Amino acid sequence: MSINIDEKSSWPITFNKPLIIAGPCSAESQQQMLKTANELKKHNNLLFRAGVWKPRTRPNSFEGIGEKALKWLDIVKKETGLKTTTEVANAMHVEEALKYDIDVFWIGARTTVNPFAVQEIADALKGTNKPIMVKNPINPDINLWMGAIERFNAVGLTKIAAIHRGFFAYNNSKYRNIPQWQLPIELRQRIPGIPMICDPSHISGNRNLIFDISQKAIDMNYDGLMIETHINPNEALSDNSQQVNPDQLNNILNNLVIRNSEIENDEFKSSLRELRIQIDDLDNELLDVLKRRMNVAEKIGIHKKEKGVTILQSKRWKQLFSSRIQNGVKSGLSEEFMSRLLKAIHQESINRQTKIMNK
Ligand code: PEP
Ligand code: MN
Repeated sequence: MSINIDEKSSWPITFNKPLIIAGPCSAESQQQMLKTANELKKHNNLLFRAGVWKPRTRPNSFEGIGEKALKWLDIVKKETGLKTTTEVANAMHVEEALKYDIDVFWIGARTTVNPFAVQEIADALKGTNKPIMVKNPINPDINLWMGAIERFNAVGLTKIAAIHRGFFAYNNSKYRNIPQWQLPIELRQRIPGIPMICDPSHISGNRNLIFDISQKAIDMNYDGLMIETHINPNEALSDNSQQVNPDQLNNILNNLVIRNSEIENDEFKSSLRELRIQIDDLDNELLDVLKRRMNVAEKIGIHKKEKGVTILQSKRWKQLFSSRIQNGVKSGLSEEFMSRLLKAIHQESINRQTKIMNK
């Protein structure tokens, strides 16, 4: 199924490299919303976010204000001129949010996992061509993420962006949700042209990590950043340790290094091309050497079979392993890399010899 996404230039929001989406995790009061938005309005084309209905993992946490908070979003829009976005998780949310002229909707990670909910929201949005941003599902399943985007596209929505907010993992200490960067990269390959937004707040769970994750996203040519920003983060009713205040947001944005993705400099382009050609050649050489090494391993396998000796000769492997590691380290390769490389090569040799033994 092919997915049609409108050119970024035809969206009602501006992806001015990067698009900044900021505002509190949750709308808590009219005053909190207005104070935050008034601090944020100096940023060009900022999209103001606030959660109205909060999907909480455990009950008895703050679950959002509901419709009253939509009114505050409307007031923010009228007083500051900022465009607004909120999360919708069912058809009723869509109907109410449409009444308050919210500019962009987003789908939360706990909704993307549920095709019934996604379909219900898609049906409620049919005919509106509202821009919609789809967060990755909690679990690292790229097809669920794709599937949600396809459901919106299938009802005629063509302004769809993806938000990378990380993935749940057990035993994960540094991040609240591990990034697994290869998944958003793959999504972008599968859906060329889809705007990709990074949500460092939900990836990190910790305001001190937001800058580094944002810089990495920018370096990977993301189109936007969604950073939870609260006038007084420590008092926030949800996600308080990952929210920043408007000054901290300024700091983060001012320090980001924005690099060019389209490289205009011809000299740079041609030297890059040359280096890439070298890498291609070297990789081919590496593969060729590996192929030759495996052929020799197979010959050894034939000898072993004839003499009736075991495939694994521990003493020889021990010797080989430590001498190769020494050589590698002398050449500036890390011991850890050498060890992984040698084990992988050794395993492949054993597999080939096993095949010969069992012939
Ligand atoms: C949020 O953006 O506040 C939110 C609930 O995000 P997620 O769905 O990524 O957990
Ligand atoms: Mn949040």
